[in-house]
Amino acid sequence: MSRDVSLDRVTMRFASYVAVNNVSLDIKAGEFFSFLGPSGCGKTTILRMISGFMNPTEGRILIGGEDMKGNGPNKRPTALIFQNLALFPMMSVADNIAFGLEMRGVDKSVRRRRAEELLELVALPDAADKRIDELSGGMKQRVAIARALAVEPQVMLLDEPLSALDLKLRQHMRAELRAIQRRTGLTFIYITHDQGEALTMSDRVGVMSRGQLEQVGPPSEIYNEPATAFVAGFVGENNVFTGRITEVAGGQAVVETGDGRLIGRNPRGIRVGTQVVMLVRPERLKPLAVAGPTPENPNVLSRSVDHVDFEGAFANVHLKQPDGAKPLSMHISNDGSLTDLVGDRVFTVGFAPQDALVLAANG
Ligand code: ATP
Repeated sequence: MSRDVSLDRVTMRFASYVAVNNVSLDIKAGEFFSFLGPSGCGKTTILRMISGFMNPTEGRILIGGEDMKGNGPNKRPTALIFQNLALFPMMSVADNIAFGLEMRGVDKSVRRRRAEELLELVALPDAADKRIDELSGGMKQRVAIARALAVEPQVMLLDEPLSALDLKLRQHMRAELRAIQRRTGLTFIYITHDQGEALTMSDRVGVMSRGQLEQVGPPSEIYNEPATAFVAGFVGENNVFTGRITEVAGGQAVVETGDGRLIGRNPRGIRVGTQVVMLVRPERLKPLAVAGPTPENPNVLSRSVDHVDFEGAFANVHLKQPDGAKPLSMHISNDGSLTDLVGDRVFTVGFAPQDALVLAANG
């Protein structure tokens, strides 16, 4: 069975330092929820409070509607997996998985059967009698998950469990973890500073900065509709144009920037006169076949190529900005005609107003 988890105005202070600041959040039963944020933003502290290794200074943690105050880690329906998996290297895989069951006095034959079932679940059907130190990093990861599942938790807590693996394996294990979560139907709460992990695996993501939740939403919403400049910057790349709003109408804003007059979406209804940032994703900046701004293409820039990073599936074309400012970045997908991009070529590029997001500069 899986459980919902609620944080009700949770604050954690270490002396005068506020590591988690008044966080309220409802994680649904059976949801894959990730906390995403830079180092030191308070993610691990939140996970420790949910697991019962720490108690909040203020506020409540509820699991399945029940206030967990006073319940230590063993009295909670949670299991925690760390980056450092803490497996017993000399013991067999099956004994590692069954360890928690042995502690609870479960019979040997039942333990063995349960270990084998769990090895099926994590796609390691023939590993029961191998020793831990005979396994690869990815296999160890699966054993750690099987061991955590053995004690039948209702909520799985995962603290950057993939960060020690190499890139290929990490990407593979993302899909594995997601599949295991779907098969078990358990609530998974995952913490990571890797936006790719959070976006690919989660039903919803909570982006954290300095102890606070900046935004909570499904991955596509976090990427396409970032609520603040911090979220936009942390989750993906942006071309940033700074300036002041001179006109607002119909959900759009005209911004006077160092790159001229540019028009973008203004979903937050920011007022005329405000200093803002206009953010354009590299994949939304496009070559245009126009000489200058037109009513259909109001945002047009002429820029020469600084350099091109060929990434395989696409090229990242870096375009020189005036006064040595950070080059613009434009992603062009590889349709087979990318070879002539290098050199002194000048591009006329632009973006549609709906592809530019206007947000408060201090967000
Ligand atoms: P990382 O990804 O680096 O682990 P994090 O987002 O998980 O970062 P936390 O470990 O939750 O961050 O730490 C948040 C802040 O609280 C940090 O500034 C950290 O130094 C501080 N902190 C965490 N635990 C303690 C503690 N036991 N005593 C004092 N300060 C602490």
